[in-house]
Amino acid sequence: SIGPPNGPLSRILDELHARFGPTTDGQVASYIPELASADPTLFGLALTTMDGFGYASGAAATEFTIQSVSKPFVYALALADRGMDEVLSRVGVEPTGDAFNAITLEPDTGRPLNPMVNAGALLVSSLVDGATAADRFERIRGWLSAFAGRELRVDEKVFRSEQLTGDRNRAIAYLMRNAGALSGDVDEICSVYFRQCAVMVTCEDLATMAATLANGGVNPLTRRRVLSDELVGRVLTVMTTCGMYDHAGEWMLRVGVPAKSGVAGGICAVLPGQLGIGTFSPALDATGHSVRGVLACNELSTRFGLHLLRTA
Ligand code: GLU
Repeated sequence: SIGPPNGPLSRILDELHARFGPTTDGQVASYIPELASADPTLFGLALTTMDGFGYASGAAATEFTIQSVSKPFVYALALADRGMDEVLSRVGVEPTGDAFNAITLEPDTGRPLNPMVNAGALLVSSLVDGATAADRFERIRGWLSAFAGRELRVDEKVFRSEQLTGDRNRAIAYLMRNAGALSGDVDEICSVYFRQCAVMVTCEDLATMAATLANGGVNPLTRRRVLSDELVGRVLTVMTTCGMYDHAGEWMLRVGVPAKSGVAGGICAVLPGQLGIGTFSPALDATGHSVRGVLACNELSTRFGLHLLRTA
């Protein structure tokens, strides 16, 4: 257990910040041109506990785009809207061992392998209820905001930048539509997904979003129920098996808690029943995960024995 809310948590976050801050490994994502201007030295760490206490160090108030950290939360929304059987019939739950943007679909059906890779996330985003694309996005924004406990906004520059250059995602969407797996207007579906990825958060928001999952679906700051217990379990399962892409196996081996990362440098990790972890640092490793974020989560897990499958 990580200890009481008044324990030395802030000091520990400061210590991790000082220890991993100087690292110069990794590179900021540049395939979305607007992300290339991020400062690679930024580093923020935050924890939110079940009783609603928050701890932070470094660039904890800096906003960045949520990118793929949105995927498990929007998956939860699709599950709430459509039910598990329908969603499962459209998007699988098998880990790929492939990169986030892999052009891999089930042969014949075109069904994406899981909701954490881009193919699956595009499809999931298209399953969210709403009369129009704008309605769908507004529901997604409101939903992410409920997890964060504050109104989140879109970084229009990052949105436009991905909208102008996101041909690989558009290609994946066309392949899925060609196979009959995706239905609807590809440009509209991609726009909703790109906007979802461009929602701005801080690492404190990610810690609270993670803490809402850790707390069985009740936001520990607002005390509002956002998600049913049952769906929390489903979402955490998929984060555990697929959240860290082609690093998912090693992440579970070393850190051992469900997590999701994004290419703008965010990581959100969930310690069920205890706390949510949010980290932000834009320099990424070869599998697209924040270098400092992975180092910090590793250290937190080792030091406090957070691995969920430990027996002692
Ligand atoms: N918007 C990004 C993309 O679709 C998200 C990828 C990520 O964060 O891993 O390429």
